[in-house]
Amino acid sequence: MRIGFHGADRTVTGSCHLVECAGLRVLVDCGLAQGSRETEERNREAFGFDAGEVDFVLLTHAHLDHCGRLPLLAKRGFRGEIVATSATRELARVVMLDAAHLQEEEVRRNLRHLPRRRSQKPEAAFEAEPLYTVLDTLNCLDRFGRVAAYGQAIELVPGVRVTFFDAGHILGSASLFLELQEHGRRQTLVFSGDLGNRGRPLLRAPVVPPHAQIAVMETTYGDRLHKPIAPSIEELFAAISGAFERGGNVVIPTFALERAQEVLWCLRQGHEQGRLPALMQVFLDSPMAISATQIFEHHPECFEPNVARQFGAGKDPFALPGLHFTRDATDSIAINRFRSGAVILAGAGMCNGGRVRHHLRQNLWRESCAIIFVGYAARGTLARRIIDGAKSVHIFEEEVRVRASIHTINGFSAHADRDELLDWHRQVRPERTFLVHGEEDVMQAFAPLLRDTRIEMPEFGQNCEI
Ligand SMILES: [Zn+2]
Ligand SMILES: [Zn+2]
Repeated sequence: MRIGFHGADRTVTGSCHLVECAGLRVLVDCGLAQGSRETEERNREAFGFDAGEVDFVLLTHAHLDHCGRLPLLAKRGFRGEIVATSATRELARVVMLDAAHLQEEEVRRNLRHLPRRRSQKPEAAFEAEPLYTVLDTLNCLDRFGRVAAYGQAIELVPGVRVTFFDAGHILGSASLFLELQEHGRRQTLVFSGDLGNRGRPLLRAPVVPPHAQIAVMETTYGDRLHKPIAPSIEELFAAISGAFERGGNVVIPTFALERAQEVLWCLRQGHEQGRLPALMQVFLDSPMAISATQIFEHHPECFEPNVARQFGAGKDPFALPGLHFTRDATDSIAINRFRSGAVILAGAGMCNGGRVRHHLRQNLWRESCAIIFVGYAARGTLARRIIDGAKSVHIFEEEVRVRASIHTINGFSAHADRDELLDWHRQVRPERTFLVHGEEDVMQAFAPLLRDTRIEMPEFGQNCEI
């Protein structure tokens, strides 16, 4: 038996781990590397294993850094079965189709501007082919097979079972408990997936899987503690009110899954309690976030009991007066008419693409406006440069000065913090722990805090006997 590490090793994005046991190959996640152009180039390289020989993919959740290379896996010959929860399956469909569409668009744009760019920078390389197309993604969707229900074991083949546990990270997210058998030897493994934090407005707290001999755990925030959510909501309201008083807009770069819905839920609360202006206009300017919000409404079984009750009583927890869903590009462009009093939620959360870049170009240089970051920003992304205090940034080949007030509110994080990760590890009590999905300095700070376990921080492409 062995595990191969093929992504999110000493870095956060691109999760991909291969478990081999008794001739069976089980892949846990197949995510996209995200960040700088250099990082994203890595997605085109070989996986480090033969896609055609993978029997199963167990998908922990629908974030792009976990499911974003699945269409590529299918394109390169994967013919096995993908197992995921029902909500993950629905969300992953939207996420992967969106990614394919964006890649096709980017290639089209590059080809259009190629003659001009070549004359300016002849040495620069421009991708002439998307990583995968919408058609590749549709083929990949055919590979989704059994649907996992939380807490119920699924037998992949005799002797190999997997159980999904609610990871409380995004809708449908799971930690995996794997039971393996080879030549009469039994081995148990837990993959944390991405772990959520407790006390979130919409989701239940993570459920810790049973004790396992080996844990592969995420360490995104292994070096810090989150502020509780209540003061974060206060901060959000204060930042919005401040910008409106100055006569400006608010731009919230938003991850389409979970964060967008959580922020909407908070805005609705603020509106109901009279804490936010009655005439506030809210734009959910992301087709993917709009689809995700609709998918949320199909899955009350995943919700925190109080929110599930609201759904049960026929109340839409996201309904808010002055809320506009702008799916079409023309409606999105029309938002530019609002010089004040608008809250614009747009993707991508790390500003490395998507409509939010247009809204930043419109609002970032205006002192009266506020930009509020409520999620993780990987190194090398536009969001990270703004958060780190850049005086000006490049957007669509234009120099834009940063004059708006910049807020980073970390209580909305969808990830467990240091103490929650430690608590999770104490309960799983693994003899051996592989740290993944974290920046290297964070892992180095986190590792000494773990007790009674052998710790490893695998390198990209490393295989370990288990
Ligand atoms: Zn995630
Ligand atoms: Zn992740």
